[in-house]
Amino acid sequence: MDFSFTEEEQLFRKTVRDFCEKRIEPSANEIDEKGEIPREILNDMGGMGLFGITISKEHGGSGQGFVKAAMAAEEIARADVSMAAAVYYLVEAGWGFLLERYGSRQAKEAILPDVVRGKTFLGIASTEATGGSDISSFSTRMEEKEDALVVNGAKAYISGVREAAMYGGGYVTIVKTDPELGHKGLSLCYLPVKDKEGITMSTSRQMGREGISNGFIRIENVKIPWHYLIGEWNKGFYYAMEGFNCARTLVSAACIGAADKALGSGIEYIRRRKVFSSPLAKFEGIQFQLAEDYTRLESARLLVYKAAWMLDRMYSEQRFSHQEINKAVAAAKLTAPTVAFDIIKNMMMWHGAYGYTREAGLERGLRGVASYIVGAEGAQNIMRLIISREILGKEFTA
Ligand SMILES: Cc1cc2nc3c(=O)[nH]c(=O)nc-3n(C[C@H](O)[C@H](O)[C@H](O)COP(=O)(O)OP(=O)(O)OC[C@H]3O[C@@H](n4cnc5c(N)ncnc54)[C@H](O)[C@@H]3O)c2cc1C
Repeated sequence: MDFSFTEEEQLFRKTVRDFCEKRIEPSANEIDEKGEIPREILNDMGGMGLFGITISKEHGGSGQGFVKAAMAAEEIARADVSMAAAVYYLVEAGWGFLLERYGSRQAKEAILPDVVRGKTFLGIASTEATGGSDISSFSTRMEEKEDALVVNGAKAYISGVREAAMYGGGYVTIVKTDPELGHKGLSLCYLPVKDKEGITMSTSRQMGREGISNGFIRIENVKIPWHYLIGEWNKGFYYAMEGFNCARTLVSAACIGAADKALGSGIEYIRRRKVFSSPLAKFEGIQFQLAEDYTRLESARLLVYKAAWMLDRMYSEQRFSHQEINKAVAAAKLTAPTVAFDIIKNMMMWHGAYGYTREAGLERGLRGVASYIVGAEGAQNIMRLIISREILGKEFTA
């Protein structure tokens, strides 16, 4: 067993950190205040190869796997703790990987190279207004009509709708293809949205991660070619679970990055801030909190990298079952956002009134990380259900 990163991985992290500190961090406040990631930053992220880490060379990426993708998620979130830049990155890395794995050759060639370059957006459209957790209850339909596929329905709380409308791109979309069959009657398709007849998008302002939009997609008689079907008809549930495992690992890594950044700034602060003639760091009450927070962050980090490492082993060596991966990823996603939220909140306390200012940046992290506690990429109770189902077996599933 070896818990260390290779020299190459360490160099990769350093390169990404240097880039993020130079290109993203100075604009972090602006990203949140203006509610937009500047186009030049997306171009540069594309130029750095960040959007192509999990995509093969054939489609413009570097095919480096989930440990490195998790490292990049961590570093991007350190630079923009609001999570906006991390979200933009990780939906593409997670769902782009899935599209490459199961999409048709024509679709992959048409979609992925532009996504990798940061030119177009690729997101996930799963949730519907009636609820996101119970995928089998979805009502967005896809039917075969003449020589095309026709989609009707609506998706809700979808990240990146404004970006997809502006820059082009689309969504890996979960649709019902055989309503009688519950989760076995779902399929996945790629839904292009920019200037597409039958697509109407609207935004809804969120509590945080202001730099990336969120909103609704109405889909009325939208025709897509057959090659936009992802994988086999009625197998969408299984592909979607795989995509969620990839994206949830990266979400968890991003939370670790934001928490690490906050803890670092807290440590720096307690060393210099004097109260009652002593640095804050000399007080046992503060030291105990530091020890707790460090330990919780380290535990969460281990879960995240274990999940990423297992994903890489599963894809390269067929080593773990889907059940083992489901459990490992859900444990990481159950832990990392809550640990990150608590640590950022504790650091805010250490900073006193300054911690509550926008200038300190901690509130941005708190608002951003909260999205993953509420439900983005899967609600926390769903992580609990997955873990207990994999431990107890399906016969104990309600
Ligand atoms: C900022 C943000 C960005 C998002 N971006 C996207 C996106 O890009 N694409 C997308 O498809 N979706 C997106 N979502 C939606 C997200 O996937 C859903 O919030 C999530 O799946 C939960 O669905 P829901 O919000 O409808 O809650 P529900 O499914 O209605 O659940 C409500 C509550 O009930 C709990 N619950 C559900 N089932 C059970 C159960 N069996 N036992 C116990 N408790 C249960 C849940 O934990 C939750 O607390 C985003 C959400 C947020 C907050």
